[in-house]
Amino acid sequence: MERQSKGRGRKFLYSFSFHTLMFSIAIHGGAGTIARHLLDKEKQAAYEAGLNAALNAGFALLEAGGTALDAVTAAVVSLEDCQLFNAGKGSVFNHEGRQEMDASVMRGDNRAAGAVAGVHGVKNPIHLARAVMEQSEHVLLSGAGAEAFARLQGLAFEPDEYFFDAFRYRQYQEALAADRIQLDHSASGDRKFSTVGAVARDSQGNLCAATSTGGMTNKKYGRIGDTPVIGAGTYAHNATCAVSCTGHGELFLRQVAAHQVHCLMAYKACSLEEACRQVVMTDLVAIGGEGGLIAVDAQGNVAMPFNSEGMYRGYRSSNGKHGVFIHAE
Ligand code: ASP
Repeated sequence: MERQSKGRGRKFLYSFSFHTLMFSIAIHGGAGTIARHLLDKEKQAAYEAGLNAALNAGFALLEAGGTALDAVTAAVVSLEDCQLFNAGKGSVFNHEGRQEMDASVMRGDNRAAGAVAGVHGVKNPIHLARAVMEQSEHVLLSGAGAEAFARLQGLAFEPDEYFFDAFRYRQYQEALAADRIQLDHSASGDRKFSTVGAVARDSQGNLCAATSTGGMTNKKYGRIGDTPVIGAGTYAHNATCAVSCTGHGELFLRQVAAHQVHCLMAYKACSLEEACRQVVMTDLVAIGGEGGLIAVDAQGNVAMPFNSEGMYRGYRSSNGKHGVFIHAE
């Protein structure tokens, strides 16, 4: 859009770009083998409804002038509260038959970050990760200590029944019988997913990323994946991008995947699209890292690449573009 203005008798031509004011949010509900034939219309509609509810919760805040931090928190809380996704309420069972959840959040303006690993009973681990960022002098808390901190912060806890899901329990029983540790998205049969995340750019130009997960079914020994590790599963920097990952955590950890997207943009001047493709389609593939990520850049552009069969995902921008998707478009 262009507008003319008069100043001291002279005409100045200056231009506005909606682009620089664009605010956007993108979310994911996990990546992996989403067999088309196992996803009937009803299930697909349920997943899409879950994704849309989370997108709308975050976008409504951005639209009202809210912060990227509040938007990603609201979107992730919505996904954590939805039993379909492996985070919060829908978290998978670990080897001991209980949920151990991981979550993290990061701000792109000052690179403040907070994360929790292996927490049990906390209704919304993303609230706890945010409390670590805002109310403690630490970045990453784990297990019983993190739960004690949650109680101190007055955060909500739920009994085991709240987290119980018959499908997840069956998944756990199968994994236990086969003595196999499995990614939620590599389960046999009706393959359900997975870790959730959100990234946003608000109208002030601030970027933020958040990720939350129950991790892997039948995981042992206090296993922790990429989700709560800043730089691996989550990263945000206002100059480049905000990133939230999903996939085989061990490989995303080794690739330091989220931070690598930032590095390619910062030091190699890659576009968001180029940086994301390099990480997901080349570097992760080279080491066998199945999964994907969502990312938003400093202009509000969104990228959502994945190298698996599908990724539950969606985005909405102030330029009117939006959509939720499961398989490749
Ligand atoms: N990245 C998660 C983990 O390894 C799992 C997932 O994304 O589904 O814990």
